[in-house]
Amino acid sequence: MLATLPLHLDLWQSSLQWQPSDTQQALFQQLYEQILIGNQQLNLTRITEPDDFWEKHLWDSLSGIAPWLADMTAESDEADAEDSHKTAPLRIVDIGTGGGFPGIPVAIALSTPAESISLTLVDSTRKKIQFLQTLCQTIGIPATCLATRAEALGRDPAHREQYDLALIRAVGKTATCAEYVLPLLKVGGQAVIYRGQWTTDDTEEIVPVIELLGGELTDLQDWETPITQGIRHCLFIYKDMPTSNDFPRAVGVPGKTPLN
Ligand code: SAH
Repeated sequence: MLATLPLHLDLWQSSLQWQPSDTQQALFQQLYEQILIGNQQLNLTRITEPDDFWEKHLWDSLSGIAPWLADMTAESDEADAEDSHKTAPLRIVDIGTGGGFPGIPVAIALSTPAESISLTLVDSTRKKIQFLQTLCQTIGIPATCLATRAEALGRDPAHREQYDLALIRAVGKTATCAEYVLPLLKVGGQAVIYRGQWTTDDTEEIVPVIELLGGELTDLQDWETPITQGIRHCLFIYKDMPTSNDFPRAVGVPGKTPLN
């Protein structure tokens, strides 16, 4: 008998001003079950207890798209809301997705009958990607799952400057993450880099790196996770210029010698 995820509708509402529909809730449960099954063969995650999974995988993944969730709630509350400036992103890429985070919960949350999104999950570990391909088919989340490195993808014309939204969590230093995601964004697209602790020194260090890659740091959101009050930060980056062909550098280089 597999464990059941908590609903925590009150916590979704108080932290993100959003709640999953019954359909989305059922998908979260299916995702959880598939991850628990996959974990028996693959080292996908240490986070398996229901409340832990809810907070550190589901909630944490969706905290990074809080502005989009708020817009969706506003739009459904008021069909002709004129101040709604962002439209739901069309093409989403998740780099170093591991067990599918944050990409899969984000796709579940942003897919509504009115909005369709395309999700690309990328990881350098082939076994994880094979698992995710089966998982997405099993639970009915349309996704392209690619076993490749971010540095290779960023040089591939089929993927470079193609995405509206790029997500990256727990893949390396912030400058490494920026070099992985910025080349993949269209001009006008946005990246979200998920971090834990963050300081003003970190901001000073990363701003020139983001600019070098054609981006602009538009927002830095700080969060307390709603159950254990852990510290989280999300960097929101807007791509305002094409990324120079110098980036991403060769496979391995962004990790070994980050740009700052
Ligand atoms: N994003 C997930 C997993 C983080 S673990 C989460 O937050 O739970 C980091 C993952 O990034 C690993 O699965 C690893 O295989 C992948 N990875 C590391 N460097 C990569 C690169 N250069 N390109 C693609 N994937 C990479």
